[in-house]
Amino acid sequence: MTAPSTPAADGPLLVRTPDELRRALDGRGRVGLVPTMGALHGGHRTLVRLAREKAETVVVSVFVNPLQFGPDEDLDRYPRDLPADVRVCAQEGVDVIFAPEVETMYPAEQMVTVDAGAMGERLEGASRPGHFTGVLTVVTKLFQLVRPHLAVFGEKDAQQIALVRRMVVDLNLPVEIVGAPTLRDADGLASSSRNVYLDDAQRESALALSRALRAGAEATSDGADGVREAARSVLEEAAKATPPVELDYLALVDPATFAEASSEHRGSAVLAVAARVGPTRLIDNVSVSL
Ligand code: AMP
Repeated sequence: MTAPSTPAADGPLLVRTPDELRRALDGRGRVGLVPTMGALHGGHRTLVRLAREKAETVVVSVFVNPLQFGPDEDLDRYPRDLPADVRVCAQEGVDVIFAPEVETMYPAEQMVTVDAGAMGERLEGASRPGHFTGVLTVVTKLFQLVRPHLAVFGEKDAQQIALVRRMVVDLNLPVEIVGAPTLRDADGLASSSRNVYLDDAQRESALALSRALRAGAEATSDGADGVREAARSVLEEAAKATPPVELDYLALVDPATFAEASSEHRGSAVLAVAARVGPTRLIDNVSVSL
């Protein structure tokens, strides 16, 4: 059993195993968890700052979870840079980084998983079968290992946080879920670890996603169909750009169920988009009030 190692004086404690984690958290006060897949950027910093405000001890988990990637997805090339992540965490005053190996999280085949139900089969779940089972299973394992009082998730992944909130209610998990607003780069593109895949021309095309969401959000006086139409016309133009934006889905959904909002829908809704630019798949969303 190795002792937890700290990368720099006063820096975060970097722990790799459940035993190290338990010892690192022993006797600490209110714990806030920020689950991530690493390649930390400004969006993750927003989450950490929120956790810092609400908890005495902040734990960031860094784990690229194979269970949530499909066979043709980017698991192997997903950006990984633990030393850079440790530096970001040190700057943000994170107390503990939990960065387990795949074999530590999944020592054997994961037979028992958390079923995301019907909500997990819509939008992202339809495009990425099994994705949310993988997400909810790893989040449950992290909750069990860290035992946080609260956990912070980004609204950038709106269906993910909605499902985590629902899981916590449906399975009576003793953790408070805190949502953090989406951080955007100066050009409007939602910050994402996957943005490093984009070259300049692809990035320019990718800006159509946030532009479409803005157009939709400005059309709320035209009702649900008007919102969808305004966003869709931006994306139809972007499909003709070089390189093209290949739309996966554009949907206006009920925020509690992620089922498509009817033409008569009133109240809050989520306008969500997923598209491919070159080989990179991007998602974004905005909350609207109808
Ligand atoms: P990831 O490392 O991409 O799995 O994301 C870890 C957490 O950070 C998730 O809760 C994401 O929703 C959140 N996140 C990712 N990008 C952003 C962003 N641009 N703004 C706010 N939260 C984000």
